[in-house]
Amino acid sequence: MESLGVWMETVKEAPLFWGSLGLTTSIWLLDSLYLTGRERAACRRMSVPAPLAGRVSQEDFDSAREYRYESLSFSLLKSSSDFIVSTGLLIAGFMPFSWHLSGQVSEALGLPPATHPICHSIVFMTLTSLFDFVSDLPWRIYETFSLEARHGFNKQTPAFFLKDQIKMLGVNLALVSLLLSAFLKVIEWAGDNFFFYLWLTATASSVVLVLVYHDFIAPLFDTYTELPHGDLRTAIEALASSLKFPLTKLYLVHNSVRNSHSNAYFYGWGSNKRIVLFDTLLDAKLREQVTSETEGAVAEADDQAKAGGCSIPQIVAVLAHELGHWQHGHVYKTFLLQQLYFCGIFYLFQRLYGVDAIFEQFGFANERPTLIAMTIIFGYILSPLNTIWSIVLTAFTRRAEFEADAFAVKLGQGEALCEGLIKLSADNKSYPVHDWLYSAVHHSHPPILQRLAAIRSKKQQ
Ligand SMILES: [Zn+2]
Repeated sequence: MESLGVWMETVKEAPLFWGSLGLTTSIWLLDSLYLTGRERAACRRMSVPAPLAGRVSQEDFDSAREYRYESLSFSLLKSSSDFIVSTGLLIAGFMPFSWHLSGQVSEALGLPPATHPICHSIVFMTLTSLFDFVSDLPWRIYETFSLEARHGFNKQTPAFFLKDQIKMLGVNLALVSLLLSAFLKVIEWAGDNFFFYLWLTATASSVVLVLVYHDFIAPLFDTYTELPHGDLRTAIEALASSLKFPLTKLYLVHNSVRNSHSNAYFYGWGSNKRIVLFDTLLDAKLREQVTSETEGAVAEADDQAKAGGCSIPQIVAVLAHELGHWQHGHVYKTFLLQQLYFCGIFYLFQRLYGVDAIFEQFGFANERPTLIAMTIIFGYILSPLNTIWSIVLTAFTRRAEFEADAFAVKLGQGEALCEGLIKLSADNKSYPVHDWLYSAVHHSHPPILQRLAAIRSKKQQ
């Protein structure tokens, strides 16, 4: 009883700090433990669901179930470890400690925090990112070279993996430093009503990032080549021109050197649209044709990869679905929704930024660093809003998926789309049975059984 009294006193002294920890703990308990537990229980189904009977063998179904179960166990373990470590460090005062350490590093670099506050923030961000990178690395190594490799997905060599991770860290640090400098400058310059200018900066940065990502950042990690002329290209161009889709480039990304997961997407603003197909999406026959024409760029596909992939009608149907997203303006609608959310949380950030108690209770009695305010307010105090927002966005994207499927059905591609989805699901070892609540919170794409049912009922209308 006595220890409970001491605990209550501690909480009373710093209600914002402990309240924030209470919120993040509740989210972790509900999401990582409760929901993931429900989803793991959904892996107990032993027989192939009726809509997939005859299309997915019992052996493939068992193998997908095992992969799903292991992936969920891995994410449960990782999210629990991340939560315990980050919470422990926060209580132990790691945030003020790292902030002061960054100040000393900044000083040693000849950039004293008093005259170079932005450099101090960039050093802090760099040190904490390096810490996260190193503590995350064993998990990523296990995931890539054990979990993914055991299920036949990993195609990376250790050298490729290491190079890729270092490149990713470098690009992230460079981009975040740029954005952070811009945000800190804007907050300092705009004064009391900074939220509007912060929002404008975030919106402009999102647009610039989308513009430069595909042309300058993505090629640093993967090889993109033009899809060679042939039956596949002709079929895709015919689909695009029948819909007046302004297709300017048709790329193949050589994902088979990374893993054997497959996908397809389009990007680009206004009348400059590009389509990207993963080489792993193509079946053996198509991949052979393409490989001979893009010599050297494509890695030798192994036997397992050769067994996967879609035929031309299936790929066209998958792209008809993608073009449904374009017809319905889903990319712009999602972008607009994101900007509305940014506007709201930046306004809340501005209001909370003036509360001294937040800084004091998180261990910053004598200073009010803006980056620390961002970390505390966005990462802890507003964390329930982030969770709610991600559920809203998931609901929106799921609706968009059904709309895009319905669009493909209208084009007469319903049956080929069903075939393509079943093939993709089998190639990606997607386990088709899910817990409805976990799925509603986590799956931006509806589960395959729901999609097949919706496509088939649309076809009958
Ligand atoms: Zn889609």
